[in-house]
This record gives sequence, structure tokens and C-alpha cells, in this order.
Amino acid sequence: MKKIKLLPILISSVLVISSLTACVNKTEDKNTIKIAYLPITHSLAVLKEADEYSESSGLNIELVKFGSWTELLDALNSNKVDGASVLIELAMKSKQEGVGIKAAALGHRDGNVIVVSDKINSAGDLKGKTFAIPHRQSSHYILLNDALSKGGLTIDDVNITELAPTEMPSALASGQIDGYCVAEPFGAMAVASKAGKVLYTSEELWKDSACCALVLTDKFLDSRTDDARTFIENYKQAGNSLDKDTAKETAKKYLKQSDEILDTSLQWISYNDLEITENTYNRLVEKVKKYGLSDDPPTYDEFIYH
Ligand code: ZN
Repeated sequence: MKKIKLLPILISSVLVISSLTACVNKTEDKNTIKIAYLPITHSLAVLKEADEYSESSGLNIELVKFGSWTELLDALNSNKVDGASVLIELAMKSKQEGVGIKAAALGHRDGNVIVVSDKINSAGDLKGKTFAIPHRQSSHYILLNDALSKGGLTIDDVNITELAPTEMPSALASGQIDGYCVAEPFGAMAVASKAGKVLYTSEELWKDSACCALVLTDKFLDSRTDDARTFIENYKQAGNSLDKDTAKETAKKYLKQSDEILDTSLQWISYNDLEITENTYNRLVEKVKKYGLSDDPPTYDEFIYH
């Protein structure tokens, strides 16, 4: 008899708990912003924002880590995330192909290096050599083109190979490649281990270069405009707060790299003033066309959220 009496109470309790859980989940979903990133120093601004501003802004930033640009871009382009810290050229290409995304801010300023083996002492020495980049749609490919032109060479004078960033330091150390340019801290790894040296920093080749950007989906920007504004504003503030010490602290938490590698890498990069100006974007568009990344990249008004 006892059991029979208890059953309705149990069932109603379960129902109450279920409806409460549904309610909590719904509230979480509404405030959550899913941001994709790769564990590189180029995404520190968004990592810092997630650490510092999630609570105070009332926005729950959910970081989604990816292992490659291809996987990250797939998630961004199919609205599985609300935004990403991504190579701006990859996002421009997606935009050109009709994907609904916009760039809201730079990922960082400067912060790339052309790393070469000890045998290479000038851009001219790269003739006939093998050089690795992560992807043709990247500022790393643009910077290589810029470096080659300093030595009177073009991209046709070198063998290009696309490698995963993690493979580049060991490929240089083993002599499989003669140089590379890629998101950090993978350049610093070769420098720290003495497998390579810096031939050029990005600022020596391209002043105010663009590389990564905070890119958001139109779906998120249109349906949650106020959240998007707050998120972008906090992102820029997070960038401004990243001096060398703060950047290192954030990098240690997410990147698990040694002090030596981070100290080497972080000397080349800054995160303040991450607004994408028309000037910076138009210089990028010029280079994208000049070096054949795209004949018809999106215009500033089409692609930059402002
Ligand atoms: Zn970058």
C-alpha cells in the first residue's frame, strides 16, 4: 500500500525537477556565446575576455577549442558557433562564397615572423628552397610574398608546402623545409630550440598587418545585436589589458607552452587598439589581390562590422 501511495508523489517530483532543469538550460542558452579558437597566442584577446568579462557582462562565453583551421572554419560557416578567432583571409574567402559572417575586430597586431634555417641569410637565399605555410589563404602566405620581393624573387622561385603548424618546428630542424611562417608560438619554438632564426618580423615587411580577426555570424549579430555590441566592446577592452605579463599569464593557462617560448613569441605581438580601420583593411585587400589569394575579396562595408 505504501508503495502505491508514493508513486504519484515520485512522478510529480520528477516532473517538477525536469521542468526546472529545462528552464535553467533555456536561460543558459540565451546568454551563451560560443566562440571557436585555436590554442595560439593570436587568440589571446578572446581567451582573456572569456576569463575576465564573462561574469561582469552577464554573457556566458563558451570557448570551443579546435585543432585545425579547417575544422574551425566548418563550425563557423555552419553556425555551430556564434563566432571565432580566425585567419581573416579564410573568413574573407567564406564571405566571398556567400557565408553570412562579418569581422568585428583584429585578433592581434603584428606578431608573425619568417623563420629560416641557419643556412639562409637573406631573402635571396630562399631561391629554390622549400617553405611551409599553414594555408594559402593567410597573412603568412602574404608575408612570404613580401619577403621574397625584398630579395628580388617571386613565389614561383620557392617550393611551397602546406603543413600543420605543430609539424613546422621539427620539419625545419630535420631539414625537410628551409623556412616557414605561421601563427605563434610555432615560430618561437624553432627560435627557442635554436633550430631556426628570424629572417624578418611582420612589421619589417608589412606595417599594420592584419592576420587573425574576431569573426561573428550574421545570425548572432542580427538576432542578438545588444549582446554582440557588449561582446565586441569587452573584447577590445580585453585586448587593451593584454600587456606582456597579462598575455603570458593567459597564454600559460590555455597554451601550455614553456616560459622561454612564450617570452620569445610575445615580444613580437601586441593586442591594443584592435579596431579594423578602413586603411588597414584596404591594404590587406590590395595584397590579397596582388598575390593571387582572391580576385574579388569583400569590401570594407560588406565584411567589417562597424
Ligand atoms: Zn594571427
